[in-house]
Amino acid sequence: MIDRNLREMGRIPDHLLPPPSLRLTLDRGALASNWRALDALSGSAKAGAAVKADAYGLGVDNCVPVLRDAGCDTFFVAHWSELAGVIAHVPAEQVAVLHGVLSEADCAYARATGAVPVINSLEQAALWLAGGGGRCHLMVDTGINRLGIAPGEAGDPSVQALKIDILMSHLASADEHSATNPMQAELLGEAAGAIPHQRLSLANSAGIALGEAFAFDVTRPGLALYGGVPRPELEGHIRQVARIEAQILQCRNLAPGHAVGYNAAYIANTPMRVGTVSIGYADGFLRSRGPGNALLHGDRVLPVLGKVSMDMVVVDLAQAADLGVGDWLEVPWNIADAAQQSALSPYEMLTVIGRRLRVG
Ligand SMILES: *Cc1c(COP(=O)(O)O)cnc(C)c1O
Repeated sequence: MIDRNLREMGRIPDHLLPPPSLRLTLDRGALASNWRALDALSGSAKAGAAVKADAYGLGVDNCVPVLRDAGCDTFFVAHWSELAGVIAHVPAEQVAVLHGVLSEADCAYARATGAVPVINSLEQAALWLAGGGGRCHLMVDTGINRLGIAPGEAGDPSVQALKIDILMSHLASADEHSATNPMQAELLGEAAGAIPHQRLSLANSAGIALGEAFAFDVTRPGLALYGGVPRPELEGHIRQVARIEAQILQCRNLAPGHAVGYNAAYIANTPMRVGTVSIGYADGFLRSRGPGNALLHGDRVLPVLGKVSMDMVVVDLAQAADLGVGDWLEVPWNIADAAQQSALSPYEMLTVIGRRLRVG
């Protein structure tokens, strides 16, 4: 029995929480190995790590200590709100905030924490300098037209007055064979000649695979750290990091004509045994991963039937007569395959992983 006073206060001891019916297992060794591989592939440059969006859905608290212990000392987040989670594990001066400073409050927060803003425009440069300036990074837009000063703004006094550590740009099509890749590298090289800086950075995961001319001093892999393979050159270097499994909650026998799930999107035409499994779109198993997709048990493939619900999915157990309530099925998160089947990008596959799957 839970102590009645505790229960009335809404405080229930953590150790009483029963085990969950879905789980994400992180292969921390694979994560560390991926960082080391990307660092080695970066040649004379050193690899940092993009840990924005809660380390691409895998959890900052899980991933940042592993990356730090592997040797990473430069981390990238997008928002100031993402900073606290990261600096619980690494010094703030190792963390860059990609969205930069939009207000005096952002500048004050940067100074209070010691984290480093990535300045993206002349307005941001002026704002940062007005508050006293200090070490920052600078993004130059060389063709993605998202964030960053234009190369033509390099001579602006506000840019020249900045104390720039990393002068960076971002590739638009690093995962493709594209003439814009060398053009962007060349533009960054030109900016480097016009803007005082300590270090240069261009390559994301796919950019690392483009070779030495793209590595400069610091690389910024994200996706490949977490098991994504954006270019074939990285195959064989990158190991799968996330394994997701869900339990069968209930089994039932369908008669011909019985329909499965919302809107009767699947109708049995023979007697069949099916299992209801504890994963749904709230966990990141999106509806686009419904029909045509499958869960796995060892080598056995269990097709998904009907529409994915918020918390559940139904699979055909024809290939798995021995399985029943409580058995664990693997949810394929082999990012390349699963992404292709579901028309999601591998980035989306990872970043939609739901809260209920965040490992503690
Ligand atoms: C997200 C991001 C990265 C990491 O890119 P991946 O393709 O995941 O390796 C690097 N640099 C910037 C500026 C980013 O926004």
